Amino acid sequence: MPYAELHRDLGERSARGLRRQRRVQDSPSGTHVSIDGRHFLSFCSNDYLGLANDRRLTASLQQGVAQWGAGAGASHMVSGHLLPHHQLEAALAEFVGKPEALLFSTGYLANLGAVQALVGRNDEVFADKLNHASLNDAMLLSRAKVRRYRHNDIAQLASLLEHSVSKRKLVITDAVFSMDGDLAPLAELLALCERHDAWLLVDDAHGFGVLGDEGRGALSHFGLASPRLIYMATLGKAAGVSGAFVAAEAVVIDTLVNQARSYIYTTASPPALAVTVLEGLGILRSEHWRREQLHRLIAQLREGLADLRWSLLPSSTPIQPLLVGDNQSAVELSERLRARGILVPAIRPPTVPQGTARLRISLSAAHTGADVNQLIEALHELAH
Ligand SMILES: *Cc1c(COP(=O)(O)O)cnc(C)c1O
Repeated sequence: MPYAELHRDLGERSARGLRRQRRVQDSPSGTHVSIDGRHFLSFCSNDYLGLANDRRLTASLQQGVAQWGAGAGASHMVSGHLLPHHQLEAALAEFVGKPEALLFSTGYLANLGAVQALVGRNDEVFADKLNHASLNDAMLLSRAKVRRYRHNDIAQLASLLEHSVSKRKLVITDAVFSMDGDLAPLAELLALCERHDAWLLVDDAHGFGVLGDEGRGALSHFGLASPRLIYMATLGKAAGVSGAFVAAEAVVIDTLVNQARSYIYTTASPPALAVTVLEGLGILRSEHWRREQLHRLIAQLREGLADLRWSLLPSSTPIQPLLVGDNQSAVELSERLRARGILVPAIRPPTVPQGTARLRISLSAAHTGADVNQLIEALHELAH
């Protein structure tokens, strides 16, 4: 059996400090977790608003299962498109200010489906170099010509668009970059797309629920609205549950229903999840204190780490990366924090560019000021 090669490849990964391994957490998601029976303060999760284990959501999930069963039973196009899915789509479209929305089982699948349905062989995709892996995979799958521009480099994108002769042009970008925490200049990107008759697909996985009026996301944050904008967000991060959606003009949604393979050829997510997200959406928009708490914690962390040996990247979002540099040092720092009972993941290439290994600190409204102080103090001690 050709397993020797797999063993060798994994061995090489270990030797380079790049072997990925999972840890089993034996408590629910939260800021205080237990792993192998040991207690940790965690800065790892994307549960930015602290909703993943909210009692109202868990109760809603139970009620949703009681009413709608455990599974959807089929794909959306066959017989799996149930009333809760449909109601959630309408609520999400209204919330983000788009005519229609379409639910996907995950954000990864939403990006694959949207890009593949909208562009093909004779078209061109323009992508920020720091985009999420799912957008990168999506553009390769679409078979469109791919142009990657330097991170947030509007001038380079303008020049690429100017030279394009493709009929359909699609610009794709993260709204909040997942390993850097910074924002894409969406107003400038949209203006460029207007000028060159291109679509702009915005992946707001980390902005939905966090940015904008009532957590409506990046478009609301920047005050942008245009039929050219195709909006995508996930429901497993700030929304605390699971799933994702694309919101756009009706003709775009209809095209996805007919052409997005990752929508058509997969079982619909359990309807109880849609019931739960719908309940969570009401909490997310009305409990402003969660976003206010996040902003207090972000300010506290940035102030507390201002004179540290390693520096935080410029970010105003709950993603606060601490730049360390080489892989080994980043992993060591993460492990020394871990020895002190604090979990912060080290992020290494190829997830981030060579030489920019970092600790990715993510904050949640469920953290307290004391939690953040504990991290600040530990980092100061480890810096000496
Ligand atoms: C998490 C994430 C996704 C994938 O979403 P899932 O629902 O976890 O599959 C897509 N894009 C970005 C930018 C993300 O951070």
